[in-house]
Amino acid sequence: MDKHLVITLTLAVLFLIVVNVVLWCRMAYFKKVSIALKKVYEEHKSEFEYEVEKRTLTLNIALKELELANHALAKKSKTDKLTGLNNRSSFDDTIKAEFRRSTRTLAPFSIVMVDIDHFKMVNDIFGHLAGDQCLVWLSSLIKKTIKRESDVAFRYGGEEFCVILPITDAKGAFTLAEKLRSIIEASHFEFENKQIDITVSCGVFTFTQQPGVGPEKIFLYADKALYQAKNTGRNKTIAYNDL
Ligand code: GH3
Ligand code: MG
Ligand code: MG
Repeated sequence: MDKHLVITLTLAVLFLIVVNVVLWCRMAYFKKVSIALKKVYEEHKSEFEYEVEKRTLTLNIALKELELANHALAKKSKTDKLTGLNNRSSFDDTIKAEFRRSTRTLAPFSIVMVDIDHFKMVNDIFGHLAGDQCLVWLSSLIKKTIKRESDVAFRYGGEEFCVILPITDAKGAFTLAEKLRSIIEASHFEFENKQIDITVSCGVFTFTQQPGVGPEKIFLYADKALYQAKNTGRNKTIAYNDL
């Protein structure tokens, strides 16, 4: 063989070997770099995920706390401070809701207005503190007397209370009002070892489907019956439906 050809072929083979070695080294280097990069990415990814999880948890706790605070605030704004009964604002909401429900279900519902007789005298004779304690005492009697889960008692204002009796007809409402009135008459409120006899007058109204009668009229009719009870001697129950 030609000497020059042998040298050329040898050089070509050597060149190819060198090129292959260089390529292999570069590939190995890139592989190493890519593994290292992947590792860094994984580490940062888990750090990032942990951070996101931590923040989500903190946010959820904050939202729960806010929800509880709102709930407590809503409850507080619906509760009478002195007696712990539902307040007037709660009454306004409840009677509207009960009216809507009754219109849908066609079931009757009743309200009982309760007003302490000659309460001004309790304040005048025994003092305002006695008056306040008397209101608390009466509230607990009302709470104890209404047994049904759905019945709700309210302090409407001053010495006036109201009970909303869902799905209760005129007979049932009158019976409950009379029971409440007679329990109060038979119980004795005590203040500084002095017995103070308290009586109440009650006005009852039962709503069955009547055109032109809304929540305001329902209250008005019960109040009219109460007025009648006051005007005809007090310590009695009058139902507007019987007037
Ligand atoms: P009636 O039999 O006609 O209902 O007479 P009354 O004296 O109960 O009614 P009146 O409306 O003349 O007086 C109500 C009294 O209730 C006057 C007021 O000082 C008292 N009162 C209202 N709210 C409170 C309260 O939160 N605490 C106390 N101690 N008294 C109150
Ligand atoms: Mg009164
Ligand atoms: Mg009154």
